[in-house]
Amino acid sequence: MVELEFVIGDPRVCTGCMICVNVCSMRFFKTISPARSRARVLRIEPALDFPLFCRNCEDAPCIDACPEGAIRRTKKGTVIISEAKCTGTGDCVEACPYAAIKINPDTGKAIKCIQCGECVSRCPVDALQITTREKLQETDPDGEILSLHDEHADILYGKEETP
Ligand code: SF4
Ligand code: SF4
Repeated sequence: MVELEFVIGDPRVCTGCMICVNVCSMRFFKTISPARSRARVLRIEPALDFPLFCRNCEDAPCIDACPEGAIRRTKKGTVIISEAKCTGTGDCVEACPYAAIKINPDTGKAIKCIQCGECVSRCPVDALQITTREKLQETDPDGEILSLHDEHADILYGKEETP
């Protein structure tokens, strides 16, 4: 089984500058627009900024939730959405436990991170990494990054908090 990659952000390092969010919407839609970005950054006051992305879940509930069969996993392991097949029902948005899917307001189609790595290379403070569960145990042996995410999960992944 291929090791599933995902992007994770370290809230202890992130400054909340939003460059990752804007780089993403620029890359895919040639505009600076958080609503059109596959990344999001959420501040938990007073001082933690969480960069948030698709976790490329092993069970990927978004795939099963799509009534159009528009979401699938590639051979490399990436969960992708077919723009041609997506009709914008939003079932995947509801199904995603990480609030990682948005509906693009221009097209009415679902968008999500595909681990392209552009944001990772552009973060000015190296707060982002493309990793796997196994690799993350090496780069964050105490599990602090995921612990911080888990600790604030209600706010980070609450549907009402999704920009
Ligand atoms: S680019 Fe880096 S520092 Fe800026 S918001 Fe994104 S993760 Fe945080
Ligand atoms: S979009 Fe959500 S449910 Fe689908 S793989 Fe990513 S994190 Fe998991």
